[in-house]
Amino acid sequence: MLSFEDARQLVIAQSKSHAGIRPTLGLPITDALGHTLAQEIRADRDYPPFNRSTRDGYAVRATEATQTASLRCIGEIKAGDTVSQPLSPGTCIQIMTGAAVPAGADAVVMIEFTRRSNEAITFERATQLGQNIVPRGSEAHAGDLALQPGLRLGFAELTVAAQVGASTLRCHKKPRVAILSTGDEVVPITESPGPFHIRNSNTVSLTAQIQLAGGVPVPLVNALDRVDDLSAKIEQGLRDDILVLSGGVSMGKYDLVESVLKGMGAEFFFDAVTIRPGKPTVFGRCRNAFVFGLPGNPVSTMVTFQLFVIPAIDILSGTAPRPLPLFEATLAEPLHEKSGLTHFLPARLDWTASVPQVSALRWQGSGDISTLTRANCFLVVPADRSDIPVGERVSVLPRFDVL
Ligand code: AMP
Ligand code: MG
Repeated sequence: MLSFEDARQLVIAQSKSHAGIRPTLGLPITDALGHTLAQEIRADRDYPPFNRSTRDGYAVRATEATQTASLRCIGEIKAGDTVSQPLSPGTCIQIMTGAAVPAGADAVVMIEFTRRSNEAITFERATQLGQNIVPRGSEAHAGDLALQPGLRLGFAELTVAAQVGASTLRCHKKPRVAILSTGDEVVPITESPGPFHIRNSNTVSLTAQIQLAGGVPVPLVNALDRVDDLSAKIEQGLRDDILVLSGGVSMGKYDLVESVLKGMGAEFFFDAVTIRPGKPTVFGRCRNAFVFGLPGNPVSTMVTFQLFVIPAIDILSGTAPRPLPLFEATLAEPLHEKSGLTHFLPARLDWTASVPQVSALRWQGSGDISTLTRANCFLVVPADRSDIPVGERVSVLPRFDVL
């Protein structure tokens, strides 16, 4: 059995070795959010394209605008104005934020530090050379790399692309992730369940998680716990880049996922991880697809998706796997857990103190989805700990859709 860290590293290594050359498509910039860039984006000109004033005030020669000195104001420059005349010695010119500083001027004095009497501007403070001016080309020179291939496009990256006029972006196609729930007890959410049936909520949670992680969810019809039905539906799922199954990976007589996959030629990289929930998680490769068998209990499915499936989606999206964003918080209520496995307990982080405080939520185990709606993180209890006192620093994994 592997630790969750080692299991994750295996997912990363296998995904990298099979990622190959991913297909690309051209997207309008407004549709590209969350995609991975598949081209270089270069600056089309210098940034800023002119010496830009960062304040509303007066463009001056620093040596002339000394404390208590006065200069005659000869006009004004607005953002967008064409500036061709240099600033004559002995004068200043009113200037707005974002406007071009005229030749000859080498500082901008904030309006707040001046007094005006008709055309005479008096300076209340000493003026430093270059103050409140961003020189042309200081952010980027024409031809500089602005965005590199492999970057995930968030709002900042899209803004840079917009700034340099890249209105269409070549991106990697998002990986397609087939979702196959299993279980004779599972019925579609549009049907009313019999007294001993449950609705297929996992296909909904996996669809949402895949979308958020940057994949294209491809939900399949639930498979019964029978070799023939399971094989037929797995066959469909193997057409996509990744197949995620829920249920059927534990030790029960009707947990057939692993044996059916094996019969179809799957190679397994792990089939157990030292975590709770999520111990029977399976990861392998079958034909041209990665296959994850996640335990069926809804919270197990969610935790194991975040730990193991996200890095595969990242890599097949053409970007580096995002790190697992574990951080430390102070335990607010004492903890008692069985040792032996690393626990991921639904928990609530609270930032009212200067240091984040975390407490585990009372829950009924990994079938208890409603507790998760109050959780914004999982508290990670190491395998060798059973009692943790209040005040100790503990590790926390944020829910990736909440924090
Ligand atoms: P399994 O991993 O197949 O043993 O499933 C464990 C438990 O997870 C089952 O008893 C169900 O209560 C629950 N479960 C399995 N599949 C689903 C599903 N698609 N949606 C919601 N709950 C499920
Ligand atoms: Mg089952």
